[in-house]
Order: sequence, then structure tokens, then C-alpha cells
Amino acid sequence: MVLEKYKQKRNFHATPEPAGDLEVAAARAKKGKAAEGLFFCVQKHLASHLHYDFRLEYKGVLLSWAVPKGPSLDPKTKRLAMHVEDHPIEYGTFEGVIPEGYGAGIVMLWDQGTWTPEVEDVDAALKKGDLKFTLDGFKLKGSWVLVRTGGRWGSSSGGGDARSWLLIKHRDDWAGDVDITEFAPLSVKSQGNFEDILAADRPDVWKSNRPAKGGEAGAMLATIIERAARLKAGKGPAAPADSPATTAKTATPKAAATTRAGKAKAASVKAGRAKPAARNVKRPATTKKPSVRASATRSRKSS
Ligand code: MN
Repeated sequence: MVLEKYKQKRNFHATPEPAGDLEVAAARAKKGKAAEGLFFCVQKHLASHLHYDFRLEYKGVLLSWAVPKGPSLDPKTKRLAMHVEDHPIEYGTFEGVIPEGYGAGIVMLWDQGTWTPEVEDVDAALKKGDLKFTLDGFKLKGSWVLVRTGGRWGSSSGGGDARSWLLIKHRDDWAGDVDITEFAPLSVKSQGNFEDILAADRPDVWKSNRPAKGGEAGAMLATIIERAARLKAGKGPAAPADSPATTAKTATPKAAATTRAGKAKAASVKAGRAKPAARNVKRPATTKKPSVRASATRSRKSS
């Protein structure tokens, strides 16, 4: 059944994630290959581990792969992509805090746009484990391929490497050695970082039972919670006495403004709305003009 696994894994009373309307999926599937292309997105997800969820619209749902290190613009850098359950098309614009349960953590809409298969038969390509396609997002563009390294398409659990694919950039004008996850780390939806998303939602949600406890992700989450508490504290009335991070009680906008970034943040928080940081990309809502160039000196693919 469509989206069965997605629904099984989630309690929609406890998560803000979309439940996935089967009628929407059916209507979307009928749309077929729209002239404007199929939807794609990448969601940066800080859960028990930081990863990037790469999603391609196909037949009314989002085919999904979890990419631990995120996409690389360097064709020599092949990124592991674990095939996971299909997600509803409505998930494609989701950004927010999953307080508990499956995928608990913070989801950021890191990139979105359209994709075009470079093959005639997508089903056959998926079955074969070799899907070539072109992306037109804000951050990711040009030709890419997903190659399966083990197992069979659609094999449910399998374990081992049955779900393992590699996400690889093809050599073209959009390839390059800039680390795109470092260069453009922020949301294309809210222009914010994880702490902004958390601060805007429920900064005190993980007083206990943090989704990432140890390691890199745990340390990252601890910092984010602290920053979110400071952002929240700077927004207006003092943070509640039971504020999660002890620093929230003493933090002031001035304290947060000890760095240039902090100043910008404090100012934008005062203004009531997070503004894009300098290193974030601007969002070209209607224009096709690229906002991030792998190389400023190269011209767009013309062949
Ligand atoms: Mn995820």
C-alpha cells in the first residue's frame, strides 16, 4: 500500500509531520511528468545522527534516501545513500521539530527544486539500481546518479547493505570542490539554522530524553538547544524559570551579540524574524537564475 511503512512508523498525534493523504498522492501521481518537472528536496535532519534526506517525487510520493554526509558536488566523492520508506509529497516542504518517536529531532528544508530523469524508464532504472537525473534546486544542480551497491529494489528490510546506494555528482558545470553543506548550511524555507527552527517551535522540548545523547550529534544538539534558548530569551519577556539551558536565565541579547553573527542574529530576533545570514543562499523564488555557483567563473551547461 502507498505510504504504508511511512504511516506505520509514526504516531500522528505526537509528530507534526504530515500524515500523508492518499488522495493527494493519487492526484499527484496522475499529474505524471509535469512540464515544470517533478519535485525534489533535501531535508537536513538532526536526529540520533545528523543526515540529509534526499527525496525525489515519483508516482505521487517522495522516493527517499538518507545520506549521512550529505550530497557532494565533487564527482570523486561518492556519498552513501540509504534507501528508506517513501514519504508523502506534503513532506517535501516540512520543516520543524519532531519532539519524540521516530526521527525525533529537528528537520530543516535544506534544498528544494525540480528533478528530471535522464532515462526513459524510471521504474526500470530503479530496478536496475542506476538512476541518472538532473536537479534544479537552489543549491544542487546539474547531473547526478544514484547507484545501488547491494540488494534488490523494493526488498523490504533485508538489512545489511540491501538498501545501500551511492549518490554521485556527474562531472559538469555544476560540479566543483566547494563543500556545499558547509558553504550553504541554512534553510531555503526559513533561512535559519537548526537553533532558529527550534527557537521558533519548542525550545524546551528536550529537557530530558534528547534524541541525540552522545557523540557529535549529541554535542551539536546540546549547543543548538542552548542557542535556541538564548534566541527565545532575547525575543521578549524573560525565559520561564524552568528554561532548559541554565544559560537561558542569564543570557541577554547583548551576551548573544559578542560575535558578528550573534549581532546579526540578535538584531533579527528583535525584528521578530530571522534574516538570512551572509553565508546562506538567497531564495530565488521565481527566477531560474542560480543562487549558488560551484564556480563563479564557469558558465552554465550549454550542451
Ligand atoms: Mn531523516
